[in-house]
Amino acid sequence: MEISFVSTDVSLKTISGVGEKMYEKLSELGLYTVNDALYHLPSSYRDMTIIPISEVNPDETATVEGVVETTPAVVYFRGGKNRLTVFVTVDGVYLKVMFFNQPFLRNVLSIGDKVMITGKVDLNKQEIKGQSVSKDSDETLKVRYSLQQRMHMKTFQNILKKIFETHPIEYKLPDEITEKYQLMPVDQALYIMHFPESQEVLTHARRTIKFMELFEFQLKIMERRKKERIRNPHYIVDYDNDQLKAFIQTLPFELTEDQKKTTNEICRDLRDNVSMHRLLQGDVGSGKTVVSGIATYAIKTIGEQTALMVPTEVLAKQHYESFTELFGDKLNITLLTASTTKKTRNDVLNQLADGSCDLVIGTHALIEDDIVFDKLSLIIVDEQHRFGVNQRNRLIAKASRRNVLYMTATPIPRTLSITTYGDMDVSTIKTMPKGRRPVITKHHTFDDLDIILNMIASELNKGYSIYVVAPLIEESETIEVENVNEIFEFFIDAFGKENVELVHGQLKADEKAERMARFESLEKKILISTTVIEVGINVPNATLMLIYNAERYGLSTLHQLRGRVGRSDVQSYCILLSNPKTENAHMRMQIMTETTDGFVLSERDLEMRGPGDYFGVRQSGLPQFKVANLIEDYRILEHARQSAIAHVSKGG
Ligand code: ADP
Ligand code: MG
Repeated sequence: MEISFVSTDVSLKTISGVGEKMYEKLSELGLYTVNDALYHLPSSYRDMTIIPISEVNPDETATVEGVVETTPAVVYFRGGKNRLTVFVTVDGVYLKVMFFNQPFLRNVLSIGDKVMITGKVDLNKQEIKGQSVSKDSDETLKVRYSLQQRMHMKTFQNILKKIFETHPIEYKLPDEITEKYQLMPVDQALYIMHFPESQEVLTHARRTIKFMELFEFQLKIMERRKKERIRNPHYIVDYDNDQLKAFIQTLPFELTEDQKKTTNEICRDLRDNVSMHRLLQGDVGSGKTVVSGIATYAIKTIGEQTALMVPTEVLAKQHYESFTELFGDKLNITLLTASTTKKTRNDVLNQLADGSCDLVIGTHALIEDDIVFDKLSLIIVDEQHRFGVNQRNRLIAKASRRNVLYMTATPIPRTLSITTYGDMDVSTIKTMPKGRRPVITKHHTFDDLDIILNMIASELNKGYSIYVVAPLIEESETIEVENVNEIFEFFIDAFGKENVELVHGQLKADEKAERMARFESLEKKILISTTVIEVGINVPNATLMLIYNAERYGLSTLHQLRGRVGRSDVQSYCILLSNPKTENAHMRMQIMTETTDGFVLSERDLEMRGPGDYFGVRQSGLPQFKVANLIEDYRILEHARQSAIAHVSKGG
């Protein structure tokens, strides 16, 4: 994130002491302007309390004080890597000190200098692997910058000192915020970040900078939100409420409380003079499809159209089937994907153009230029994170009234939803429809294989299908990891060849599809698979899932996998097969047996794994901050958010 500390940003060339050569080095670090340099904060702070050499623990980083005894010597290796060696006496011990890739220290260290060296001390070898060195004994908090060996820390800090002397920092947080949260003025905080006097003030300064970052971020999100939620009477969808109520009456079940609540939220957006920009989130099976169907019907009552875009062809077909089953007699629904035949496509295009199609369900095939709607007034995007902004916008561009409803079945923790979905209104379905039986989850070790096989046999006897999730085929790093082929053979022995199907990532797409189809058509009742069983597969007949080496997966993945069973009113089971070796793995198995709530699991997952691993790719969509950390600083994030909302509503 960019923050402007000085109102007129100028090139670093204008700073006295920065010549051509220095400017070049700075620019290689991505630092071109005063603002860049000010926000190039230390990458770490080290406590430089000096300890006597006799008290240094092996393998621990420590700071010792000594006197330089020799002139430093630098050796270069291939690729420009290098090592500087210098001898020092520390508390009467003569030691060899090595610094890797800091050749400029040659110009800093002279015989007789008193120095503080931070590094790993090895008293047996009488050497120190040095990390940093300082001659300033007043300095107890040592900053480190990422300068990629281009210059010495001190050089960079001197440039900063010049900047602070000559360029007053004009960025200010609103006074009431500084006061309320007991922050420092930002100019002071920024100075302390670069020149900390004590741990205490540094902590205060850091909190201030974190707040500033998160506050600025929230302001940006709110700006985006304002752009997405345009107010104009044109956006009023004056649907026929009586018709809509009658329609809801015809559903074969009563809506859950959460379905009613989210339906109301969506309908309010439609009625309002605002363009809808809303997310509908809820676990698989929570009843989102029904809610979006009601919204679709509301649009139909004024003779306008809805488009539902989903990321894969399989999902498009599935949605098409479930919409048709529920609403087929009340809505004219069509399907459009890349594999739609030319003739059918032409028909669909005509129906879209003349308005006779109420709802088109499709993949990104929907964004083609020749697809024209009569009156597209609601766009529903499923698993929106799997589309690029451009794809979404191309569909939105076809709308005559811009109302967009995003749907996701991937629950994410609240802290992340503030940032990821911060610009949207969010509707959440938390409770499952009545009568749904939560999947019973059990944790078993390999010693219990007999029990497990008995359970599988019993489900098979009742006519149900079984998923077996095996570790990836390529991964043979450990012997303990059961190979998918061995598992396949094992199941053939136990249940007969005619019952068992195998899919894995190395199969050709059409071969994989054929094998999956045999499982889907119930021709084969056991599917052994690596985690290629993607979101698409839907076999309500499956009542048991066995996951081998379950400890290898995070809670979110386990939850996604488990979501393949429990799709009918029959009791389903999930068996986690593993001999967990770490406490963390044990805990995960335990948590899985205790809850089926995706939101709870996502929170626990985040706690246990940290944001770095969180949901793989999705992570890349999260904003990066210099100081703030979205997870650790969630309280500050909350406060910054409230402050931003208050600030904007005051017209700030
Ligand atoms: P999602 O889209 O969130 O995965 P669906 O809308 O497809 O969930 O609903 C899952 C299943 O539950 C469907 O078979 C649907 O008909 C059924 N269902 C939805 N809402 C209810 C309800 N209120 N009561 C009973 N069954 C429901
Ligand atoms: Mg509206």
